[in-house]
Amino acid sequence: TKVIDRLRPGKTVFSVEFFPPRTDEEERQLWRAIRELEPLDPAYVSVTYGAGGSSRDRTVRTTGRIATDTTLVPMAHLTGVNHSIAELRHVIGSYAAEGISNVLAIRGDPPGDPMGEWIPHPEGITYAEELVRLVRECGDFCVGVAAFPHMHPRSPDLESDTRHMVNKLRAGADFSVAQMFLEPEYFLRLRDRLAQRGCHQPLLPGIMPITTPKVLGMTTQLSNMTIPDEVSAVLDPLRDDPAGFRTAGLEITTRLCEKLIAEGVPAVHFYSLNRAKATREVLENLGLSDGVLKG
Ligand code: FAD
Repeated sequence: TKVIDRLRPGKTVFSVEFFPPRTDEEERQLWRAIRELEPLDPAYVSVTYGAGGSSRDRTVRTTGRIATDTTLVPMAHLTGVNHSIAELRHVIGSYAAEGISNVLAIRGDPPGDPMGEWIPHPEGITYAEELVRLVRECGDFCVGVAAFPHMHPRSPDLESDTRHMVNKLRAGADFSVAQMFLEPEYFLRLRDRLAQRGCHQPLLPGIMPITTPKVLGMTTQLSNMTIPDEVSAVLDPLRDDPAGFRTAGLEITTRLCEKLIAEGVPAVHFYSLNRAKATREVLENLGLSDGVLKG
């Protein structure tokens, strides 16, 4: 099943992102989360690809097991970091062999320091656009790409950021998933910029349920944004009150999702950190029925 066929016109569904477990305990935790989310009928679930290809086998194995042992539609991420094109073809072939028909094609970051100098593999790719073409060439895949409401941290300006995003979509991407953000306007402006250039592929907002100060910190670090004043005003006084912080954080997350659903987003994509609880609470707040969000 393709991700694109799981999106329902005029309705907002949801999807969930996991990372491949590194230890037996993480493995148990992931599978608890998968089993708790499965009955809620996410449109798809995705599994990330570790920096530098470090998780290659774990990503293939985890996504493959989701394909065979669950009713879920899996998507595997793939990055070009430290891989020759021959190796990338091999990984894409492993995905096909595991029954995976959805791939998120991403360039990736240099291992160690995400903002360090990008040195392409001598026989590899330099930009995600090339990976989109490669995945397309290798088989009948539904291909997603990453999008950046606050533009990519390496982009010198909005114009070049938009131009490269458009090229990535035109290279054959079926949909895109946005990096985290807290102000819907940034996401909606990105959607408008793409639509103005004729790119109408579904753009999914990426949402990290705010449960702890650490999670909030991760959100800002990865996304090139600063925390909006309204959010700081609510959460800063609660930094030493874990239960209060969590309740207020999930409330903020819920309000953000409601605004996006009202704007007609095709799906809300949750960065789950391999735990189901916070995502389930937000889904419950949003009124989930038959896999569709009421908002
Ligand atoms: P690109 O689209 O290649 O863009 C990178 C930069 O290059 C941008 O500034 C872009 O404007 C510029 N650019 C693009 N094309 C050109 C060109 N032709 N000429 C000049 N400049 C150009 N990382 C992981 O390691 N594993 C994961 O599983 C993972 N999953 C992710 C999932 C999502 C939804 C998101 C949003 C990010 C994810 N990342 C992951 C992080 C990602 O690897 C980084 O954001 C990375 O820095 C960029 O990848 P990209 O595919 O957006 O790169």
